[in-house]
Amino acid sequence: MRIVEVREKAVPLKTNLRNAAFAFDEMTTSIVAVITDVVRAGKPVIGYAFNSTGRYACGAQMRARFIPRLMKAAPEDVTLDPAAFKPEAVLAAMMTGEKPGGDGERSVGIGTIECAIWDAVAKIADVPAYKLIADHYSDGKYPQRMFCYVGGGWYAPGKTVGDLEDEVQRYLDMGYTLIKVKVGGAPIAEDLARLEAVIKLMGGDAKRVAVDANCGIPPDKRSVYAKALKPLGLRWFEEAAHPVDYEGNAAFIADYGNAVATGENLFAMEDIRNLVRHGGMRPALDIVQTDIPQSYGIAAAARNLGMLAEHGWKPASVLPHGGNQMSLNQAIGLGLGMCEAYPGAFGVFAGYCDDLVVEDGWLKAGDWAGMGFERQSALIPLMHDIAA
Ligand code: MG
Repeated sequence: MRIVEVREKAVPLKTNLRNAAFAFDEMTTSIVAVITDVVRAGKPVIGYAFNSTGRYACGAQMRARFIPRLMKAAPEDVTLDPAAFKPEAVLAAMMTGEKPGGDGERSVGIGTIECAIWDAVAKIADVPAYKLIADHYSDGKYPQRMFCYVGGGWYAPGKTVGDLEDEVQRYLDMGYTLIKVKVGGAPIAEDLARLEAVIKLMGGDAKRVAVDANCGIPPDKRSVYAKALKPLGLRWFEEAAHPVDYEGNAAFIADYGNAVATGENLFAMEDIRNLVRHGGMRPALDIVQTDIPQSYGIAAAARNLGMLAEHGWKPASVLPHGGNQMSLNQAIGLGLGMCEAYPGAFGVFAGYCDDLVVEDGWLKAGDWAGMGFERQSALIPLMHDIAA
């Protein structure tokens, strides 16, 4: 039960969405296929993953370093036998020869391949990936369902408050109950009008609304946003400051007071540790949001949870960035607080198995094999193309 070949292909996301900091017009992602020597029904078992959203495809690093290292690693370190699978050894094999620091250059490539290996091993074991993850890191225990919130409220060319209301109403009609809205990409008066409209649609309950500034608010405007949005009593305020501006994050928290969230653009345990040490973050109130395929993968995410526990943080305060089948499996398997969802955004890469139904914001943990990509009819053909 071993890796025969690892393939990668860059695929465009094809979207014109925008947040406060940048547009996604040119955004790509790497699809990875891990081809195994295990044959089922006459075909090899193949593990898949993609590098989530917001970071470009990174096949060059994969082909130059990470894939060759996997192929020449000691067989027992990179075995796909579920009974002998050692995720930490897989990560260590890909990290051979890497200098400390500079994590963002490699963490996306390594994490994406690592997630595809989990998909392969879970398929070989014929279990959902979340169960394999829970067996490794949660004493085999996992919740039967996961709360999912929508990362939406996008800016788009010519989009009006009425269009935003239509967008949010679509999410409500799908069964979601908590919606995150972009802020910081329009004048503050316009952002406040957008939020007022969304809170109204949520029955006046501001705890069903979060906001995301994507680090796009200039430092001298952060305090203005903090003071203007504080009275609304929103669920959380995301990425007020640059990802590694820990002092700026702490200053924002001092002004804002209510719950904040950040972390989707941190890639190493050491950066996340700096955030909780120096960023003013409060374990019982605030939220840490790493993107698991972009930050070295699932074994690293489990290690991050161990570090966070030493600082008083519970898994319930960790929400994976990225609304897709991978983050859903990771949230269930690691017992995280919620999962994100991107209905209608990021094309075929967003969303879950076709047959999953959101009920009052909750999704049931299904009986798929691996990550469950085979039940995403729009996505799986792209993956099959690479493996063909
Ligand atoms: Mg965000």
